[in-house]
Amino acid sequence: MNILVINCGSSSLKFQVIDTDTQKAIAKGLCERIGIDGAITYENLRNKTGKIKENTRIDDHKKAISLVLAALTDSKTGVIRSLSEIGAVGHRIVHGGENFTKSVLIDNDVINAIREVSELAPLHNPANLTGIEACRAMMPNTPMVAVFDTAFHQTMPPKAYMYAIPLNYYKDYKIRRYGFHGTSHKFVSTEVAKYLGKTPEELKTIVCHLGNGASVSAVQYGKCIDTSMGLTPLEGLIMGTRCGDLDPAVVDYIMGKTNMSAYEIDQMMNKDSGVYALSGNLSSDFRDLWKAREEGNKNAELALDAWAYRVAKYIGAYVAAMNGVDVICFTAGVGENDTKSRALIYQYLGYLGIEIDEEKNAKTRGEIAEISKPESKVKVFVFPTNEELAIAQETLALVQCPVKYKHTKKKAE
Ligand code: ADP
Repeated sequence: MNILVINCGSSSLKFQVIDTDTQKAIAKGLCERIGIDGAITYENLRNKTGKIKENTRIDDHKKAISLVLAALTDSKTGVIRSLSEIGAVGHRIVHGGENFTKSVLIDNDVINAIREVSELAPLHNPANLTGIEACRAMMPNTPMVAVFDTAFHQTMPPKAYMYAIPLNYYKDYKIRRYGFHGTSHKFVSTEVAKYLGKTPEELKTIVCHLGNGASVSAVQYGKCIDTSMGLTPLEGLIMGTRCGDLDPAVVDYIMGKTNMSAYEIDQMMNKDSGVYALSGNLSSDFRDLWKAREEGNKNAELALDAWAYRVAKYIGAYVAAMNGVDVICFTAGVGENDTKSRALIYQYLGYLGIEIDEEKNAKTRGEIAEISKPESKVKVFVFPTNEELAIAQETLALVQCPVKYKHTKKKAE
């Protein structure tokens, strides 16, 4: 089945068509600057004619979807003859709150339940909903599925997701840890188990999703029991431009010392912090940081060392949380490609009886590889994530076995 995967931002829309028989994308692209001026980039991956970019007015997401569907069915550049060849649409939704513990077939109840938790992701969920509405208008008879970044982490127990602040903040405002990148954590932990000829229920796995945004998760016997991101993606690791864990008193302290508002400090912690800040505003891209470090730049050295140290501390915490670990996976842009940053993390893992094949590590970029030695007590893998394929797989499963979503209001403890 061909599945259209949609990832809608407030002014952008990324798409892929995945053929679930081959598990490969046959077309992909991006609509940008929606509502500003507009541009569409489209690539037919079957005939490999390369990217086509066209600047064209895109007033809203509905127009963006109509351009995507026109490109996909175009007689010259298209990959399908008619829209009937798209069996279903999978939508990436950032926040499912406590309403969604798994992917669901979209109906009006689902749309209302996504809207209900939109306050938790005010920049993302409304954009995601716009994408759903636009697709429903253009393809009213095609089944659609919502796949949530938060759903996989809903198995976390209260001891992992509750913040130790007065309970009313949870009861009244649902302030708790949710976690993100769930589609990737689920995909990698499930696929690595398959690769090892096991089921996820047999393994304790730590997934390190290390991209520009980054998170670690502890997956015990197929269920996520903890993850490093919290109410928002700001908590946890040092990221490209996010600070990760921080004494919350820093916010009030900075407010007292400067004229910055809480909002401005939030923006600073999300957009001007992380390795970008520690490197002296050099770059958030790890390739630039390594180049500078090798040229003797001390700030770049600090940024990379602090980043790796934080990842290693989370791995240690999750070994404790699961009372052991069988497999550690590195994934996403940095985890898959940055051999040297991975090596910085390994320095801290010797106590686990981990032995790394350094040559193999240095050669491995963007492909599945077991980079620990056979005698290592814990297996260490580079395991590329594929969030679009994961969304397509979830969508296919729900189209084949439809289950209607039932909205149940979870009672706050
Ligand atoms: P996100 O999805 O959060 O934007 P990605 O998972 O795409 O992030 O990761 C992007 C980051 O991966 C880049 O900012 C860069 O730091 C890093 N990266 C990508 N390729 C390489 C590479 N070959 N070597 C080192 N770092 C890389």
